[in-house]
Amino acid sequence: MLTILLCVPNSSGFPGRDEGKTMAADVTLALSPPSSSSNRHYVSNRPPLAPSPLVKLPIGTIEPSGWLLTQLRLMKDGLTGHLPELSRFLQEDSGWITMKGPGWEEMPYWLKGFADLGYILKDPAIILTANKWLDLAFQSQQPDGFFGPPENRKKKDLWPNMLVLSCVQSLYEASGDARVRPFLTRYFRFEQGLPEADLLPGSWQKLRGGENLESVYWLYNRTGEPFLLDLARRIYERTADWETDIVNPERDANWEISGFYHGVNITMGIRYPAVYYQQSRDRKRLDIVEKNYRLIMDQYGQQPGGMFGADENIRPGHGDPRQGAETCSLVEFMNSHEALLKITGETRWADRCEEIAFNSLPAAMTADLRALHYLTAPNLISCDRTGEHDFQNDGTLVSYDPWSYRCCQHNVAFGWPYFAEHLWLATSDDGLAAALYAPCAVKARVGAGTEVRIIEDTDYPFGDRVDFTVEVPESVRFALYLRIPGWAKDVALSINGKGRPEALQAGAYAVIRREWKNGDRVRLSFSPRLELKVWKKQKNSISVRRGPLWFSLRIGEEWKRYGGTDPWPAYELLPTTPWNYGLVIDPGDPASAIRMAGRKPPAAQPFTLEAAPIMLKARARRLPEWKSEGRMAGLLPASPVISAEPEMEITLIPMGCARLRIASFPQVIGK
Ligand SMILES: [Zn+2]
Repeated sequence: MLTILLCVPNSSGFPGRDEGKTMAADVTLALSPPSSSSNRHYVSNRPPLAPSPLVKLPIGTIEPSGWLLTQLRLMKDGLTGHLPELSRFLQEDSGWITMKGPGWEEMPYWLKGFADLGYILKDPAIILTANKWLDLAFQSQQPDGFFGPPENRKKKDLWPNMLVLSCVQSLYEASGDARVRPFLTRYFRFEQGLPEADLLPGSWQKLRGGENLESVYWLYNRTGEPFLLDLARRIYERTADWETDIVNPERDANWEISGFYHGVNITMGIRYPAVYYQQSRDRKRLDIVEKNYRLIMDQYGQQPGGMFGADENIRPGHGDPRQGAETCSLVEFMNSHEALLKITGETRWADRCEEIAFNSLPAAMTADLRALHYLTAPNLISCDRTGEHDFQNDGTLVSYDPWSYRCCQHNVAFGWPYFAEHLWLATSDDGLAAALYAPCAVKARVGAGTEVRIIEDTDYPFGDRVDFTVEVPESVRFALYLRIPGWAKDVALSINGKGRPEALQAGAYAVIRREWKNGDRVRLSFSPRLELKVWKKQKNSISVRRGPLWFSLRIGEEWKRYGGTDPWPAYELLPTTPWNYGLVIDPGDPASAIRMAGRKPPAAQPFTLEAAPIMLKARARRLPEWKSEGRMAGLLPASPVISAEPEMEITLIPMGCARLRIASFPQVIGK
């Protein structure tokens, strides 16, 4: 079955909050876990902060398996695990070692993902290396609480330290390291003692102050020291204004110099009003975040894959799906969605996070995770190094290179680990929520404190069902929340093989409250439909979707080495087959346009051209007048386009498997 959607940016059609609509004895629907209680087993928001509907489990409690474990292992063997051999910012002269020269964001960007990777994989070698860097940060703390390279202090730049705060929080979650809480307390006292003018005076730190704010809440929830809430208020007030409409005429006029228009800043800053909502408890701050998400996606995100075009900055007039998103933006947007999921409990943020993770992030790297590029776009026909692209920056931005792309080279490290850490979350009513879907197992305390293990067996996002097996030492009552994605249409739930009659609503959670026994099984089955999405504001172009996956034209790949070393080569990726197709859609019979042509179980690394687990066939015609501009796809022609070229079938594969891609197509009418 095939349905046509009009473009409402990533809406999950939320009807409002109506927690606990009863359906049958032990299965209910909820739009969020309750916000009236607090989880008893995992650190939640401490009053007066707003209660947390969903709470992060300590790192290490979730064990990824299947294709996700493969990503993490490839990271270890790839760029992230070996970055000290490659990056000039991780050498002996780093300011983070010498505490003399420059030491800015690069080392902590990398450490944030690298160390978490070690904790998730329980890898002693990674943890040992991470600890060496962390030890230096601890040792550098001065009597007044400042830490890190003194050069940052001279510049009054708190930004790089914000990243280290995240690193030590992970260390504490993973090991309970006794240095962490006093270290953070001293540092926040240092910040509290800063005169107003020296607290986030300008530049990146001012635009990114919400990162610091989150760490202050993390410590407050553990120590309850009142000064932290005062500091949090000051930090929020000193952070740049992310409450105003995120795109507006005044900023349009200054797009080149406005830090508000830098893609990475947007992906981070967009969540800050919701972070501060936890303290202010003013729900309009949550509404602001949703409004700004829609504003940015409405103008620059009319494309599949969960991102918006910002090839450095968003540029007024540059909304075509050929504009790319920086790799830093991919992982930071995922991180913001994960944070918003915990703050609001709402499933739409999980949908948005998955959309990036499955469709955009894999293509930012080579399949062996040993090289990356700076910009990834839904329509990207050549990953060359010529610079013949209409991007804001000149130079090489799309070739795959382990030696280049400075910020992204380091920051890409936290994408998959943070994703893996948010697969399961504790709920405010002492239950567990399956929030993001991927193969894994979780071990956590529920109910009055019983430790349970749940094995999640699935090929999702390539497979259509998720199987859970519950392991408990004794029967125990708790609530199991299963997210129903916003795209879901026909969802079936069974418990111990017995189908449930309830209609499960997209965008809600199915909440199963029961006395769980060892070996209980739950199956959640989706029957995703093939859907066509019309991007009305992007020339009526269309994209093909099936559940959490968007699809791209399969373009032949030629990998051409141009640099690097034998173990760490740099590649251009060039097309060997045509790309300029439009899809032939009969408005009266859209179902005839596309068909399923092949499926196979996902390989260990499914995100490659050859391994694509799902293959579709679509009716198409070439569009000779849709030409490349330099090495870039020409701007999308206005649809429908008339073509006299012969009709043929083309192959579509999941976007995440395609590094050369056309995922937004013109619609074609035959002559
Ligand atoms: Zn970057």
